[in-house]
Amino acid sequence: KEFRNNVKPNWCPGCGDFSVQASIQRAAANVGLEPERLAVISGIGCSGRISGYINAYGLHGIHGRALPIAQGVKLANRELTVIASGGDGDGFAIGMGHTVHAIRRNLDITYIVMDNQIYGLTKGQTSPRSAEGFKTKSTPEGSIESTLSPLEIAMSAGATFVAQSFSSDLKQLTALIEAGLNHKGFSLINVFSPCVTFNKVNTYDWFKENIVNLDQFPDYDSSNRIAAMNKIMETNGMLTGLIYQDTVRKSYEDLVVGFGEQGLANQDIQMSQEQFDKLLTEFK
Ligand code: SF4
Repeated sequence: KEFRNNVKPNWCPGCGDFSVQASIQRAAANVGLEPERLAVISGIGCSGRISGYINAYGLHGIHGRALPIAQGVKLANRELTVIASGGDGDGFAIGMGHTVHAIRRNLDITYIVMDNQIYGLTKGQTSPRSAEGFKTKSTPEGSIESTLSPLEIAMSAGATFVAQSFSSDLKQLTALIEAGLNHKGFSLINVFSPCVTFNKVNTYDWFKENIVNLDQFPDYDSSNRIAAMNKIMETNGMLTGLIYQDTVRKSYEDLVVGFGEQGLANQDIQMSQEQFDKLLTEFK
């Protein structure tokens, strides 16, 4: 309850992003967070509005730049839990350079992508996640580009936590966000979140028919990197559940020598006024 605010989302009725918002709020409460310990940083797109709909610190950033801002927030104050969020266009097109390097950098951030396989805010153009042949205003004869696989890219970039879910599966999505928040490192959670207004192909029913839930494979080992990559490819990226987790590799913050447990924003400057003035003079 404490993560709800009074702002009414202006998403279209039925948009998958409502459930993602609810799952973040539930997961944050379930892991024992307080609103003043959480920062939600978003990019641009319909899903980017989410930072204004959660009772926590929030910043609605610029297109494709949620991750640089989120990493800056985390580095300035590692005592905050940081969630970065946005859409597939935001994170896997203009922001893809940041996504890959944030994954390999492994700061302790949870990145939640609302993947609707189209650009919704700009009224329905093909995104990097749209299927070949997908017809939109920007591809009236059907997309002739191949579909980008964020899960394969994350695995090859050295991800320590890769999960995927569906906005209709609130129970699974909430559990995965909790796991991402508890993971010590960068966690990517890609969420199939249907755009009911502009994407008439990848609908709720389409996802229900095409998703492959990892629960079907009781022997699956999410710590096995090769098995994870194989399963992603076997299922054409439609796998949902905790796909891969490396609990051994340390996060970026833990590897920086002298970074300390306390957030930089809360550390004493530890210098006299005279020393501080001298420093300022040097930088003039
Ligand atoms: Fe959601 Fe699509 Fe409406 Fe945007 S346009 S709010 S993604 S349903």
